[in-house]
Parts: sequence; structure tokens; C-alpha cells
Amino acid sequence: TKSKFDAIVIGAGMSGNAAAYSMARRGLKVLQLERGEHSGSKNVQGAILYANMLEAIIPNFRDDAPLERHLVEQRFWLMDDSSHTGVHYRSDDFNELKPNRYTIIRAQFDKWFSSKVREAGGTVLCETTATKLARDRSGSVIGVYTDREGGVILADVVVLAEGVNGLLGTRAGLRDMPKPENVALAVKEMHFMPEEVIAERFGLTGGEGCVIEAGGTISRGMAGLGFLYTNKESISVGIGCLVSGLAESMENPYRLLDAFKQHPSIRPLLAGSEIKEYAAHLIPEGGFKAIPQLFGNGWVVVGDAAQLNNAVHREGSNLAMTSGLMAGEAIFQIKSRGGLMTKRNLSLYKGMLDKSFVMKDLIKHKDLPSLLHTDSHNFFMTYPTLISQAAQNFVRVDGAPKINREKATAASFINARSRWGLISDAVRSAVSWR
Ligand code: FAD
Repeated sequence: TKSKFDAIVIGAGMSGNAAAYSMARRGLKVLQLERGEHSGSKNVQGAILYANMLEAIIPNFRDDAPLERHLVEQRFWLMDDSSHTGVHYRSDDFNELKPNRYTIIRAQFDKWFSSKVREAGGTVLCETTATKLARDRSGSVIGVYTDREGGVILADVVVLAEGVNGLLGTRAGLRDMPKPENVALAVKEMHFMPEEVIAERFGLTGGEGCVIEAGGTISRGMAGLGFLYTNKESISVGIGCLVSGLAESMENPYRLLDAFKQHPSIRPLLAGSEIKEYAAHLIPEGGFKAIPQLFGNGWVVVGDAAQLNNAVHREGSNLAMTSGLMAGEAIFQIKSRGGLMTKRNLSLYKGMLDKSFVMKDLIKHKDLPSLLHTDSHNFFMTYPTLISQAAQNFVRVDGAPKINREKATAASFINARSRWGLISDAVRSAVSWR
């Protein structure tokens, strides 16, 4: 029919924009639906943008994309209530012509990405929620219904880029709702302060940026992480924990964030700031084993809706962009050889994903999410506390002989976990990291 589209993309986040842009620039007739007031208005991220994956879609994005700082330093902290033990990596190599990672503010970034979809010829409809998938008698998806008047909108294929909740796809029975042990709830604040103050506090010059990622007693024994990212004139600070842990412990994420901000290692970094924004969002953390069916007759699913998120490396937007791009490319290739959007043809998308870093990385860490979930108290409470005490034992000088201190440290580990427990934890961690 006249109004039939080649593809409808649900959602204008990272994956939806990548899919819509890649198809529109190839000349396909694309409709993108976004329930938010504008693209990005509903979206939350730390946020680190991994440049290579965007470069594969928009090579010259650095010319006009709203980028905050390029990252030269990454700090990993293990925390107990009064200390942190850290590994920091800082390199001048990251002051390169085309930096590798940037901090971004999603509301601005998504707006920019969406403008590129429009420039490429895509139709973007905001303030429009897709309410139901339309199917033909055989069950193939043939379009969507929205909360606007006008009935069904038809398309050869629907790209579900609706984010982690994925209500449209779950309601249609294409996949299950994510399980509580496979999603984290993250809360985040934006703390504003002058650019020079951020530069001075973190030892940054020019557009350099720094991030801190922290685990330990801050998550009260639940699997979870705190983070702090420097933007130009603000700092994003937040914490996320598995929903299953929050439900069991009845901990309140806002209180965890408050405690994280009050931690003696974090408080000075935020001093004097003005809080302007507050957000909460889910993150898919189940890894490879939680990935649902990714394609069917008339549909594909991409990004967070497909659970494509590497929680171990805290990467999500890059998997979202890459899966969106691959879905778009697969659809274009099928179209250009005159094929139909059947399950069989759309398996091309999954084939592309399997060959890419997306599936390879998720397969590599397939056992880690369940290990961290089932053993969270040891990994997020016992070990951070022991390591912190060991570090203090190592640096404190008070006349006690070193040998006594070292023996006390070894005994503290054995008392807490037993010899076999320590060996088993080390082996299981190593195996799940392979
Ligand atoms: P989303 O960005 O969630 O987009 C989905 C879109 O679909 C939304 O705009 C939504 O409004 C729209 N939508 C949903 N349903 C409908 C509907 N029915 N009709 C119309 N529109 C609809 N990743 C990183 O790479 N680096 C980081 O530093 C990082 N930090 C993070 C920190 C936090 C606190 C969180 C929550 C996530 C973080 N992530 C990070 C993960 C990253 O944000 C996601 O992986 C990424 O946003 C996924 O993109 P997406 O397009 O699949 O989903």
C-alpha cells in the first residue's frame, strides 16, 4: 500500500538510531517511532561512548556530535566503608587524533543522532508509543499500532529497539520479561561544577576525562557497581545493583547512592556541586545466557531489548549500535536481492552478530553473571573488606614486625573463606573469565 514502509524502528536510543540511520542512508523507506518528547528524553547512560562503533556508522561524527570529554584515565576501585584500593590506568596515548572513548550526555547525544536519521531521509515520529505489533494470519509481523489515531502502520519488517523493558516484544510473546537476576537497577545524578574545578580535581587538561568504577561494600553484598564519570561541566555519579538483590535485601537504591556519595573517597570529588538531574534505569546484565530469540518472520530485536549488554566490561551502547547497524545492513541486503523478511532470511542478522565482537565477548563471559549473582556476598562484601584490610596492613607502620602483619593478613583470608573456599573462588573466577 501507499503508506507501507520498508522498515519500522521502535525506539530512538542507540540501537534504534543506528538501525534507522543505516537503512535510511541506503535509501530504504524508514519510519522510526519514539515515545519520548524527543529522542533521548527517556534515555539514561553513564555514559561512555565507544567511538569505533559509532565511527562504523557515521565516520565523521566528531565534526558535530555533542561529546563531553575524551577519556585518558580509568580508575577501578575496590571499596570498604572507609577506604578504596585502586588500579588506575592513565595514558597519554589516549590523547590521540581520534580518541577511543568519550563521555556523553545521552539526552543531547540521542537528539544529535536522531537529526542524522532525518538527514539521511528517515521519518522520525516522537511522542508516539508503539502499542502493539500487527500480525497476519500466519503470525508474521506486518506492522505496528500506535497510541495515535490512524490504525495499523504497515512495514516489511519491524526492528524492535525498545530498550531493556521491551514491553512490545514481550507482550507479543516474542520473548520473556527479563528475570530479576538478569537486570540491574541503576540510579544516577548529574552534579554540576565549573570546568576548571573538574580539571583540577582529576588532574585533567584540555578536553581530557576520567572515570571511576567502584565495587565493594557500597552495594551491601549485592552484585553491583558504583560509577563516576567526568563530563565538561558536570560529573555523573551513580550506582546499580541486580534487581534480585534489591528485592531480597529490601535495600533502597537511592539510599545506596547517597551512601556512595558520602563515602570519604567520593565526597571530596563532588564537594560544592549543584545537583540538577536525577534518573533511574534498568541495565540488562544476564549476558549470553539471557539473550532471547533475535529474529522471526517480519521482526528483529536489537540492543538492550535483545539483552546485548556486556556487564563485565560495562559496555552497552556499543553493542546496541553494532546490533542496530547489523540489523539494518541485513535488512538492506535481503531487500536488495528481492528477498522477503522471513525468519530464514533474517537469520543473516544473527550470523553477522555471531561473527562480531558482540557475541564473541558475551560468550567469553557467559558464566560470570551467574557466579556474581550466586556468590555476590563474597565478591562484593567479603573480598573487598579483606583486600582493604590487607592493603592497610601493608602500608601502616606501627612497630609491629612485617612477618606478623603478613601472617595476620593470610589468616584473615583463611578465616573468612577457608583454604578450599579461596582455591574454589579463584578457580571459578578464572574459569568464568576465560
Ligand atoms: P535505549 O537507549 O533504552 O532506547 C530505547 C528507546 O526506545 C527509548 O528512547 C524509549 O523511549 C523507546 N521506546 C521504548 N518503548 C517504546 C515504544 N513502545 N514505542 C516507542 N518508543 C519506545 N553503555 C555504555 O556503552 N557505556 C556506559 O557508560 C553505560 N553506562 C550506563 C549507565 C547506566 C546508569 C545505564 C542505565 C546504562 C548504561 N549503559 C552504558 C548501557 C546503555 O545505556 C544501553 O546499553 C543503551 O542505551 C542501549 O540502547 P538501546 O537503543 O538498545 O536502548
